[in-house]
Amino acid sequence: MTTPASVRWASFALLCACGSGCSRAIEPAARRVVLVTCDTLRADHLGCYGYARPTSPRLDELARESVLFENQWSAAPLTVPSLSSLLTGRRPDEIGAASRTNMQRMPAQVRTLAEVVHDAGIDTAAFVSSSVLTRPPAKQGDIGVAQGFAHYDDTLSSYESNRPVRERRAEACTDAVLGWLGARKPSEDRFFLWVHYQDPHGPYTPPTAERALFERPHESEVELPQGSDASGYGQIPDYQIQPGERRPGEYVDRYDAEIHSFDAQFGRLVDGLRARGWLDDTLLVFTADHGESLGEGDWWFCHGETLQPELLHVPLVVRPPRVLRERMLGTSASRREPRLTSYLDVWPSVLEALGLPAHDNRGCSLLGATLPEGRIAEQWLGAASRGRQWSAVTDGRWQLRLCAGEPAQLFDLARPSEPDLAQSEPGRVRELLERHQLGLARPDAKNLPGVPRALDDETRRDLRGFGYTEGAPAGH
Ligand SMILES: [Zn+2]
Repeated sequence: MTTPASVRWASFALLCACGSGCSRAIEPAARRVVLVTCDTLRADHLGCYGYARPTSPRLDELARESVLFENQWSAAPLTVPSLSSLLTGRRPDEIGAASRTNMQRMPAQVRTLAEVVHDAGIDTAAFVSSSVLTRPPAKQGDIGVAQGFAHYDDTLSSYESNRPVRERRAEACTDAVLGWLGARKPSEDRFFLWVHYQDPHGPYTPPTAERALFERPHESEVELPQGSDASGYGQIPDYQIQPGERRPGEYVDRYDAEIHSFDAQFGRLVDGLRARGWLDDTLLVFTADHGESLGEGDWWFCHGETLQPELLHVPLVVRPPRVLRERMLGTSASRREPRLTSYLDVWPSVLEALGLPAHDNRGCSLLGATLPEGRIAEQWLGAASRGRQWSAVTDGRWQLRLCAGEPAQLFDLARPSEPDLAQSEPGRVRELLERHQLGLARPDAKNLPGVPRALDDETRRDLRGFGYTEGAPAGH
């Protein structure tokens, strides 16, 4: 007998639902929430995620008094789709943000975390460092990731050293945040703050002192061709090229040095909160928008072209406010959580910490002692309306990649060198496909159109400089 779709969906929803308490209003556990995101930061290049090089001493220090989520998945391998999802608790394809080019903003009718918090009378502020996150022109209205932030600082104070692209280095970003914090009266201590750092995004141009920390010999390396376009397949993308440099290890060293440079400034931000007496009643959430390919599958120093796991497995470290420490950490100083988490989980966590009901919640609060087993995370690359759209679904061990007109691809995340296993594992393909399709069919799913970015010449040049080109071929 065939199970009706409504019953199957209800079962699926129950399977995915978190334990009690994730969507009901509670007493505020935190006076404020600070969400810090870092661009292009893969989890496995951080010390607290097992990397052997000392890239992240300050984040490692924070992790020693936090919950570190080992199996966190972002929404997309690209800045705008990923952060749009993170800040709305929705899939990129639902909010008009599944573009491959960072060229679509989510429309005004999308409800953002900042809007919910601001409407509850809590102040909101954001500091971003990437040109793809700048505010839209006033004529476009309140759209995109800036929606709901009463203060949105997108001052891009510098240009990258090897191309005319605006950005804000981590030190300048932290300076701006500390200035904002320092100007607040003691009574203005309740807020939701989002800070986005940019430094590990290519081109990798760390400060000289940081670069020296991570230099090592690379005499015997096979050199890579230098590309004439933004693709990273089998070549160094043109926007990443360092003059005369073709050795991959040299690029990895620079990437690591960029992480270290960010990390020091992240630490300064945490110090600033602590010095103000505002750390211990803060929920501090740290994650990344996506990772970076460093040679996996012959993709080099790039993201946004595939749904490979190194682009989607990102760090997630959550430092609880004092009143939640026992609940989240038990009697230990820190905890490592191996169960799967995703971008959807930030929405209920932030709202619960602030004592607000998490209406329209799709995820699970991270503020409990445990997470349910058997969850999935989904990712998106490209929009169906703009050519081919790829999606992926993972249970943390297996990843299924799908695109209309293409055979499904199945990868074993525990054996990354194995090729596509879809033919030899048809049962796993069926199971993940069904769970993905049930998610797509959920009754509250939407498919809103994105709003094209209105580009001035400078923004257009910035985007080209980043390697984001209009009409780029579909990825896989
Ligand atoms: Zn990004």
